[in-house]
Amino acid sequence: TAEAGRDFIRDIVQADLDSGRHKTVVTRFPPEPNGYLHIGHAKSIGLNFGIAKEFGGRCNLRFDDTNPTKEEQEYIDSIQADVRWLGYDWGDNLFYASDYFERLYEWAEGLIKAGLAYVDDQSQEEIRLARGTLTEPGKNSPFRDRTVEENLDLFRRMKAGEFPNGARVLRAKIDMAAGNINLRDPVLYRILHAHHPRTGDTWKIYPSYDYAHGQSDAIEGVTHSICTLEFEDHRPLYEWLLDKLPVPSHPHQYEFARLNLTYTLLSKRVLTRLVQDGHVAGWNDPRMPTIAGLKRRGVPPAAVREFIKRIGIAKANSIVDVGMLEFCIREELNRTALRRMAVLRPLKMVIENYPEGQVEELEAINHPDDPSAGTRKIAFGRELYIEQDDFMENPPKKFFRLSPGTEVRLRYAYFIKCREVIKNAAGEIVELRCTYDPATKGGNAPDGRKVKATMHWLPAAQSLTAEIRIYNQLFANPSPNAADFTADLNPNSLEVLTDARIEPAIAAANSDAPMQFERQGYFVRDPDSTPDKLVFNRTIGLRDTFAK
Ligand code: ATP
Ligand code: MG
Ligand code: MG
Repeated sequence: TAEAGRDFIRDIVQADLDSGRHKTVVTRFPPEPNGYLHIGHAKSIGLNFGIAKEFGGRCNLRFDDTNPTKEEQEYIDSIQADVRWLGYDWGDNLFYASDYFERLYEWAEGLIKAGLAYVDDQSQEEIRLARGTLTEPGKNSPFRDRTVEENLDLFRRMKAGEFPNGARVLRAKIDMAAGNINLRDPVLYRILHAHHPRTGDTWKIYPSYDYAHGQSDAIEGVTHSICTLEFEDHRPLYEWLLDKLPVPSHPHQYEFARLNLTYTLLSKRVLTRLVQDGHVAGWNDPRMPTIAGLKRRGVPPAAVREFIKRIGIAKANSIVDVGMLEFCIREELNRTALRRMAVLRPLKMVIENYPEGQVEELEAINHPDDPSAGTRKIAFGRELYIEQDDFMENPPKKFFRLSPGTEVRLRYAYFIKCREVIKNAAGEIVELRCTYDPATKGGNAPDGRKVKATMHWLPAAQSLTAEIRIYNQLFANPSPNAADFTADLNPNSLEVLTDARIEPAIAAANSDAPMQFERQGYFVRDPDSTPDKLVFNRTIGLRDTFAK
């Protein structure tokens, strides 16, 4: 059994097992394959698969594939890959709502025969207008009192494809004056002449979410059907259908708060538009809050799981600071990522008193907290690169890095001093002429003198060029407007550095494991890399850089 009191849903599951109401718990994760999964889905995945694992039950992966005009095989495949990447496994329990189309249809005929459903010829717009409002009851459809025979005949002809899209729908006959608008004769079936990825052209009518969902849960023996709060008002309809239909089991629906994140929009509608309108390079663009985007960005799945655990499960909606996710990513990467050196914006440096043609190898440690990660060699020679930002010709008071006359340490190497600044015709600094103190090898002076800065660097000849992509928030606004999100896009969400330098160990690793580039952040090789052109994504910087 799971940790008691962890959240209200786990408490309910625990109580149902303790009371014997259920012998085992069965949950499901029911994505509609109309887009890629995002970090909000990870919350639902963590909850449903987590509960099944903790309580020794099972969790089904069920594709809610009831709307063929928006659904694609690509999405089905990506969803499976992303659930696995997050570390969850549905075993043999992979299902599709479309597997139940035949049974759902038969049950719908049963509702008609029982006088509980009717075919309505009104248009979608007429149905919407006649639904009423919270304060005003709805109006009965003029087709509400059709005979069972007429309804059956029309429904069968809808199924046979006799009518065009939108000509008719099947509605439950409940109560047009119900306080809950979801009970005002909800639509159960609509006509849709569309090719379905799994059932092909067999069906000309498709069940609504409300009709398909609870019945699919019942067919699968789901005990706890967990969904987000916007479905709370649908629960009476969920119950009504289970009560009226000859379903094999009676699941219960529970609602929790969906995940909202600052600087982020988690809506498939918006994410689809970002991709389709070219605001990002694809569903797996590292700026996207999709699982595929996080993966490509170098976020470890363990960091996502830790984040999901920390935010918890609540009944009230709230907005989580994206800084919390970033914290979890840094924690995990700090623990696991090997340290390397890279110079993102190189500035050439010549050590004038270092012998021409000489190269020595210095020892660098791979992880400061993990001696078992070992060491590697880094070449040191007369020509080096340092970071442009690490030098200022006329520094302000608190600038402790390199400037004319000051002494700094080059990590793992020597103390150096800048003697001369070389500029091009445009007045830009193109090279520094420096000297080193051979007695400070390894980074300490025998006379005990101190320096205030330690800087990373790379040897000019024994380093490689790479492209580095720096990502910032996709939206500049902490609460982007979903209705008009383009106005809130951050124009600086991607910075590309094309002449960065990396140490050979970074290229040699040929691996997708993220690394820490010392003093810069965490980086991972991007799949755009080729043998001739290495590309790295910055997963995240070392410290918070965005305003809270
Ligand atoms: P969207 O509203 O973005 O289109 P959706 O809810 O329609 O998403 P589904 O594919 O139907 O997407 O979602 C599958 C499951 O994931 C549902 O149970 C849904 O409640 C859950 N889910 C979706 N978004 C979130 C979120 N932001 N936080 C928690 N759970 C979510
Ligand atoms: Mg949905
Ligand atoms: Mg949706």
